[in-house]
Amino acid sequence: MFRLFHATLKTCMLLPHQPKPLTYCSLLSQTSLQFHAISTHHFDPFLSTLLLHLKSSSSVSICRIIHAHVIKSRDYGDGFIGDQLVSCYLKMGATQDAYFLFDEMPKKDFVSWNSLVSGLSKIGQLGECLSVFCKMKSDSELKLNEFTLLSVISACVTENACGEGYYVHCCAMKLGLVFKVKVVNALVNMYGKFGFVESAFSLFSGMPESEKSIVSWNSIVAVCAQNGMPNEAFNCFDMMRVNGFFPDDATMVSLLQACENFPLGRMVEALHGVIFTCGLDENITIVTTLLNLYSKLGRLNNSRKVFEEISKPDKVAWTAMLAGYAMHGRGKEAIEFFERIVREEGMEPDHVTFTHLLSACSHSGLVKEGKYFFRVMSDVYNVQPRLDHYSCMVDLLGRSGLLNDAHQLIKNMPFEPNSGVWGALLGACRVHRNIDLGKESAENLIALDPSDPRNYIMLSNMYSAAGLWNDASKVRTLMKNKVLTRNPGCSFIEHGNKIHWFVVNDYTHPDSHRIHKKLEEVMKKIQDVGFVHETESILHDVDEEVKIDMITKHSEKIALAYGLLVTNADMPLVIIKNLRICRDCHNTVKFVSMVEKRTIIIRDTKRFHQFSDGFCSCGDYW
Ligand SMILES: [Zn+2]
Ligand SMILES: [Zn+2]
Repeated sequence: MFRLFHATLKTCMLLPHQPKPLTYCSLLSQTSLQFHAISTHHFDPFLSTLLLHLKSSSSVSICRIIHAHVIKSRDYGDGFIGDQLVSCYLKMGATQDAYFLFDEMPKKDFVSWNSLVSGLSKIGQLGECLSVFCKMKSDSELKLNEFTLLSVISACVTENACGEGYYVHCCAMKLGLVFKVKVVNALVNMYGKFGFVESAFSLFSGMPESEKSIVSWNSIVAVCAQNGMPNEAFNCFDMMRVNGFFPDDATMVSLLQACENFPLGRMVEALHGVIFTCGLDENITIVTTLLNLYSKLGRLNNSRKVFEEISKPDKVAWTAMLAGYAMHGRGKEAIEFFERIVREEGMEPDHVTFTHLLSACSHSGLVKEGKYFFRVMSDVYNVQPRLDHYSCMVDLLGRSGLLNDAHQLIKNMPFEPNSGVWGALLGACRVHRNIDLGKESAENLIALDPSDPRNYIMLSNMYSAAGLWNDASKVRTLMKNKVLTRNPGCSFIEHGNKIHWFVVNDYTHPDSHRIHKKLEEVMKKIQDVGFVHETESILHDVDEEVKIDMITKHSEKIALAYGLLVTNADMPLVIIKNLRICRDCHNTVKFVSMVEKRTIIIRDTKRFHQFSDGFCSCGDYW
């Protein structure tokens, strides 16, 4: 086979009237060049050579050289080289060259116009793209087809241009192209991207069932996924399967995306099954997303199983697994994993790898190890520390009470500290009750982002805890004057294929009566074994009893009570919270894990807390 290939190649080279080789021939290997010549334009090797160079050209000057050759010895119509030159100029951003050439071309046919529209669309020149489109529309000799429309729709999507999108939709209707399946798919996708879900659905439902392709189904699943409608995405997926379509990579990417914000255990497990039965487990992006989802759900063991099943994990998969360990505060395992992938698999760690590794050390209180990796990342691996790495280090030092070291590190940083760095120090000051440094951190944070209520709350709480009521009240007045309100806290828990949401003092759940009864019962049980409320994190300057009443109705406590009522005792109880868990709830869950003999996992904005036997995996620092 190989010999035959070379034999043909020689024959080709010996053809009479062979043109002089181009001066920039060295840009490409001879072999691939001639192979292309044989395969596509055996009748005209020089033209093939030009086309091939055009295809692989990486600069405007090469386009211009080819352009010059065409002017000298060719016709723009030969092998559509004129149209391809237009596309190539546009790809390089040389719009003027493209226009000059386009005007120069004597015979412009439909393909030429489409090349121009498509090239302009790809570089996001919506205005230009539309103006060429309108010229085409007004030219009676040119009949617009679906390809023209697809280019213009794609430009509208890229530029998020709703008005123009509507206009193109109207044009499609007038031109009678709205029945073309590709056009409808593109419009469905466009409306989805604009967030006009109803329009997308009405177009999709208007399509005859027999016309719908896998792309049509994928488009509507993607619309739901992108617009935060996981249930609808799964319904469309079911319908798709009823209609005899098998999911492909694109379907799965959308479904996994749908789960990203509301990871429901059962949905993720179901997807896991589909991925394997449909043979989509070869797609590393899909399995890595699955691994991530399990990790977000608090099921690190499942993540690990998925990882072990990847035949050739890449850097993204390794990093995702490391991130899982970090998020779950498994410092030792993260370090072992890091050493394994670097030593055995030869992975070259980058700044993302070190962010996860340092954050794992910090979440597990591994000060010595953290310091070591912070040093070797630049000394051995040549990765210069960035702000994220400094935040992790400040967090790590602060956590161990080395507040002055953390402060020193901030002062010696080669760049301006950001809110992540100051936030880490403020968190440490709160835990170790260092008012002076805490004040400095909070002031810096407020200066960096005066609109973030969390910083005022944290500073005010610190003052309150130290009994500095006047200062606390000043901060609160400042916050009120700026009309800053905290996001309402809410927690959710999965049960019976549904997500159950709870906010503070929530009585809206149908089972509310039973839930609050259970909560009282559990609180009583833990108080009997020595639990005492910690009211310091309550902002309001109110009586102790009122404070306790407010604190016992936090959303995660209500979710916990519901979880205890409805979930199986041998399964971990997983709660997801949109804010950081407060100290009192953290303590409550520790006691509940002990008296109820349950493993309870709470994911807050910072990390996972895994409670069992009265302890939390975070070691009471978060
Ligand atoms: Zn709480
Ligand atoms: Zn914890």
